[in-house]
Amino acid sequence: MEVNNLFQLSIVIPAYNEADSVPILLQQIQSVLETEALLGEIIFINDGSTDATATVLDKLTTESPLHVHVIHFRRNRGKAEAFTAGFQKATSDIVITMDADLQDDPAEIPKLIETLEQENVDLVSGWKYPRKDPLEKRAFSFVFNRVVAMFTGVKLHDMNCGFKAYRAEVVKELRLYGDLHRYIPILVHAAGFSVGEVKVKHHPRRFGKSKYGFKRISKSFFDLLTVLFLTKYRKRPMHFFAGIGSLFAGAGIAVLLTGCVLKFF
Ligand code: UDP
Ligand code: MG
Repeated sequence: MEVNNLFQLSIVIPAYNEADSVPILLQQIQSVLETEALLGEIIFINDGSTDATATVLDKLTTESPLHVHVIHFRRNRGKAEAFTAGFQKATSDIVITMDADLQDDPAEIPKLIETLEQENVDLVSGWKYPRKDPLEKRAFSFVFNRVVAMFTGVKLHDMNCGFKAYRAEVVKELRLYGDLHRYIPILVHAAGFSVGEVKVKHHPRRFGKSKYGFKRISKSFFDLLTVLFLTKYRKRPMHFFAGIGSLFAGAGIAVLLTGCVLKFF
């Protein structure tokens, strides 16, 4: 990622089948940037959409007065890889990520940036409050955030909020793939950066449907194991495997000794 300071912020937006939402979102962003007198670049990642998102985004790049770039993925590669592609393209000191489905409100961008500066942290993660999602999603998120806090010490209310503000140094270090976008604050914290949180407005989904169903519940916890392993044991894997190995070896030796005692005495 090159930082040339032409723009004050880069807004990275992954979009998968969001043709109806993206033109409205861009309008909202434009009005915030104008009101706040901010010069921003907007980077959409069309994540292999099968609806009209590609055409709509291409049209927006030519028609919008804003600096809009689109990265097209030939197939659906997921939000994490979309972020990675957007981060590589971003050129400013502050990078905002947000969802394309109008659930995140661009009017909150100044608040995210202010928190980044005032709390002097490297990442500010949004906390969707009050959250306008179905009950099962909120319940899952409640449990998930507490489990993550218990195991990692990163205490956030809404780890997986797509609305975040980063300093450029952070996104330069992040290598996201698979479903790692759900654990960004843990990865950022493990890399030695500071993490803050601020409440952000949240809206119900207006068009299309959520891309994440029930399957994510079990997957999210399996992925949490991967993240814990990556952040704690990547450079000393034997501390993990030898611990488990010693346990089984100990049990094996105990059984063997018991067998010997029973046979000979
Ligand atoms: N998204 C994406 N690739 C995917 C799934 C989702 O780029 O494979 C985008 C999606 O278009 C939206 C954001 O990620 O902009 C969040 O997705 P969604 O609204 O479905 O998640 P939810 O709000 O239900 O958690
Ligand atoms: Mg959504």
